[in-house]
Amino acid sequence: MHNNSYLEIDRKAHKVNIDFLRKHFHKDVLFSSVVKGNAYGHSIERFVEIAMGEKVRHFSVFDSNEARRVKNVGGDNVTVMIMGWLSNESDMNWIIENEVEFFVFEKNRLTSALASAKKLRKKAIVHIEVETGMNRTGFNASDMKWVQDFLKKNAEFIEFKGLCTHFAGAESIANYYRIKKQIIRYDEIYNQFCDKDLKPKLRHAACSAAAMMYPETQMDMVRIGIMQYGFWPSPEVLVNFYNSKRKNDNPLKRVISWKSQVMSVKKVKRGEFVGYGTSFMADENMKIACVPVGYAHGYGRSLSNIGRVLINGERCVVIGSINMNMMVIDVTLLEHIKRGDEVVLIGDQGDKQLSVSSFSDYSNLLNYELLTRLSADIPRIIKS
Ligand SMILES: *Cc1c(COP(=O)(O)O)cnc(C)c1O
Repeated sequence: MHNNSYLEIDRKAHKVNIDFLRKHFHKDVLFSSVVKGNAYGHSIERFVEIAMGEKVRHFSVFDSNEARRVKNVGGDNVTVMIMGWLSNESDMNWIIENEVEFFVFEKNRLTSALASAKKLRKKAIVHIEVETGMNRTGFNASDMKWVQDFLKKNAEFIEFKGLCTHFAGAESIANYYRIKKQIIRYDEIYNQFCDKDLKPKLRHAACSAAAMMYPETQMDMVRIGIMQYGFWPSPEVLVNFYNSKRKNDNPLKRVISWKSQVMSVKKVKRGEFVGYGTSFMADENMKIACVPVGYAHGYGRSLSNIGRVLINGERCVVIGSINMNMMVIDVTLLEHIKRGDEVVLIGDQGDKQLSVSSFSDYSNLLNYELLTRLSADIPRIIKS
């Protein structure tokens, strides 16, 4: 852990988001909190703790390592569902022993789950992921009979908990027809399973964007990532929400803030270059400040000469290239700046704000990518 900078995780902001989402979704929908990618950069440990404080009990992760981290915080009080990777037999044994649930999208995983379940004399809890048009993971139509026969034959060892799919870009209207076709396809497959007396406990398909744009996809459970952290999946989803409400106030609040401090301040003469190479030349006498945050911490190089930070309540611009561990800021107009002054990389200072999306716009990175690149070494502190 270093102390160059820290991330503040705002418990109250999270409560605002979760209250909004619960109210907005159908009444009986189970809320699964997606905490893959180190809880979108917020830290699995910190985020699960605050989510549990709001009675969230279902968490979705990508792999078994993340599942272990959620279990370490939530123990038997939480249900964990792995949506992606599990590596080997010992993973599978741990998963079944701890009643962790998991997506199955290939035959091999189903047979290895059966083998472990028999050995441990404990049921494996599976969510069958079906291909509906994204063409990533999911059983194809040609596998379905095999899967159904397998589930029927091995019901003693395999609990058929969920039937699920994932949409190919519900955050963009450009994908409207593709998503609609996926919804129809999912319903057909669900009916096929029911016709064979295989009724899953949970039907689930929706990520944040699908749950907002296509409410029928909420089904029995929603898998919500980005919105619980206070971000919209895309501007289109936000605009769509505004249109449906006929008013423009954003009900979500950013949970994360990123703060550091001024490391040093000095003067630079007109005509001098700042930093590596020649990407920035002072065209007047300037004052610059160094901040001990760089691309090693997740502040992308694409923000060179572009990024903004808040110091002394003013918006200031990054000059020259982002270095591995530091960046240089133009602070010519800040009269009173000194070493140790707070620097806000994401968040509020005075009446000014820097949102993740504002710097995603500058750098063409999605909120998702920027958040998950925040280094795991940065301390996360819960603000109550
Ligand atoms: C990441 C993910 C989600 C959550 O997506 P958001 O857009 O962050 O809500 C849901 N389902 C699956 C399969 C995912 O991989």
